[in-house]
Amino acid sequence: MNSKKVYIVSGAGLSAESGIRTFRDTDGLWEEYSIEEVCSVGGFMRDRQKVLDFYDARRADIEQKEPNYAHKRLAELANTYPENIVMLTQNVDDMLERAGCKNVIHLHGTLTDLRCENCGKVFHVGYESQKEFICPACESFDIRHNVVMFGEAAPAYAHLQKLYNDAEMVVVIGTSGQVIDTAYMAQLVGNSVLNNIDIDENHDQYFSKKLYVPATEAADEIYELVEKFLES
Ligand SMILES: [Zn+2]
Repeated sequence: MNSKKVYIVSGAGLSAESGIRTFRDTDGLWEEYSIEEVCSVGGFMRDRQKVLDFYDARRADIEQKEPNYAHKRLAELANTYPENIVMLTQNVDDMLERAGCKNVIHLHGTLTDLRCENCGKVFHVGYESQKEFICPACESFDIRHNVVMFGEAAPAYAHLQKLYNDAEMVVVIGTSGQVIDTAYMAQLVGNSVLNNIDIDENHDQYFSKKLYVPATEAADEIYELVEKFLES
């Protein structure tokens, strides 16, 4: 097996077809909140309980959702080429894991874990409310969501630095670089695939291959492109 590295970087568009909503959607739960209120350090300081309740609701919501065909094909790809594929996601859901993907790096944290503010311990809680837990390491009650908010450092961004050094191919799915500079990745790596339903020329121009269809429709072609690259 060769040592070529392919980085797959996914965002909200990957999970959209599983019914997992984001702030860009304008229905249901999301209309009751603003990003500033529930996704920023300032909002958390102003109304801690509101933020914790928000993440409790999101955690409960993903229990009802299922991985879609794109999650499943990406999991197969990662499991077929475990030495080559690095799976990065901006998503905080566990759809890739539930599709069978073993090593998923969550750039913005995970809904299914909680974090102790006292000792830093991160522990798995699945879909339970954070109200049920104290820290298993230090027994502190100061428990919070394990999701990075605006105004906080994202420790997993260290993996982006590795991408810049290692990647020979990058596949970007369901994001157009508002949070992480995926256009820069495409410029740097050269062999780059973008799958997104929205067209954004400023961002997309740097990609060598573009698939403007839903992730589930692009999944087979993405699989083949990566397979071809790794087998060549
Ligand atoms: Zn603790």
